[in-house]
Amino acid sequence: MSATDANRVEGATAVRRLADWDGARLRALAGEFETPLYVLDLDRVHENATRLLRAFPDADVSYAVKANATRGVLETVRDAGLGAECGSAGEVRRALDAGFPGERVRYTAVNPPARDLDEVVSLSHDHDLVLTVDSVDTFERVADRDFAGRLCVRVNPGVGAGHHAKVTTGDAPQFGVPYDRAAALCAEVRERGFDLVGLHAHAGSGISGEGLAAHAELVRRLSALGREVGDLDFVAVGGGFGVPCRPEDPPLDLDAVAAATREAFDCEARLAIEPGRYVVADAGVLLAATTAVTETPETTVVGCDAGMTTLLRPALYDAYHEVRVLAPDAADRPTARCLVAGPVCETADVLARDRPLPEPAVDDVLAVGNAGAYAYEMASQYNSRPRPAVVSLAGDPLVRRETLADLTRLEH
Ligand SMILES: *Cc1c(COP(=O)(O)O)cnc(C)c1O
Repeated sequence: MSATDANRVEGATAVRRLADWDGARLRALAGEFETPLYVLDLDRVHENATRLLRAFPDADVSYAVKANATRGVLETVRDAGLGAECGSAGEVRRALDAGFPGERVRYTAVNPPARDLDEVVSLSHDHDLVLTVDSVDTFERVADRDFAGRLCVRVNPGVGAGHHAKVTTGDAPQFGVPYDRAAALCAEVRERGFDLVGLHAHAGSGISGEGLAAHAELVRRLSALGREVGDLDFVAVGGGFGVPCRPEDPPLDLDAVAAATREAFDCEARLAIEPGRYVVADAGVLLAATTAVTETPETTVVGCDAGMTTLLRPALYDAYHEVRVLAPDAADRPTARCLVAGPVCETADVLARDRPLPEPAVDDVLAVGNAGAYAYEMASQYNSRPRPAVVSLAGDPLVRRETLADLTRLEH
């Protein structure tokens, strides 16, 4: 059985490629709601969440809200049975508003602003959420606020600091209490009467076939610490489950990740995972309209009405997002190597470089793939550009398009 077969859930494939989306449907949505437009397939979000629950049947699975905090996504993920992993007071609010029970909400502080701590501690009076502290100082600040709820300690597992050559670059963990000091902090937390229920680590994104050894090492180290600390409800090993971005990239073999995790996890506490990208990335596309097509000696410059203020990842991370020309006759057009650029006067305002595409024409609709995660979430009003609308594939409006009036709404 191939990895792809093993990852099938009720006929749903392990990854949805941009080519799998119904082009006529997307064109119709662009016509009805205008561009730039984010389209989210909430059924696909549900499928992805369900696939995770089946691969990790004994684990506590939470959704990392920062990947996409749209209400429709949160409600879908909640319905599927996931908890909510939140990185700010705003995300905690949105998770509770979307109906996640307080017990399924975790707030993972990273150098938390005072306002975030005030709000989360206040919410904890009515909701039995878990507050994760990332340092001794954060613990003291939480203690100063008389927090009486469940506490978790974020640990820097040290994987990447030479324990494994493969992970010494990239997203080496840089958050949390150093591994060799974590047990002492846990003991102090308990001595001072706090309810310590868990340990947490998140090593960054990018669990892939190649990254499995590093992931397993993190799980091993964290569960060893869990045994040492003892009497915990859960040990959370983070998110980072990869999603292929190029058409030729294989899908993540989720069963292999689950097996490696199970094998490395040796602790009485319950395993917890918290993927974000994996749940939503391939459930979203961005639609844009072409505004100009210019042949230059180097490349065909394709101007469009979406750019870095709509989808920041190519400018910020050099991220690769697939682009598809949705014109009905696209297959008959000659191929051109294109630079797909947005409406901002910055060389970084690019969605794709040196990309072979059926030669676009003005007013074509372009679809940009893997736009469900860290996409609308990172949209900005830079260049005084109202943020785009978000609709479901079924045609339900999820977030309205901002207007020019919205741009000055906060000014005195
Ligand atoms: C961002 C984040 C995640 C999710 O990461 P993905 O790569 O989207 O799966 C999980 N846990 C924490 C603490 C995070 O900050």
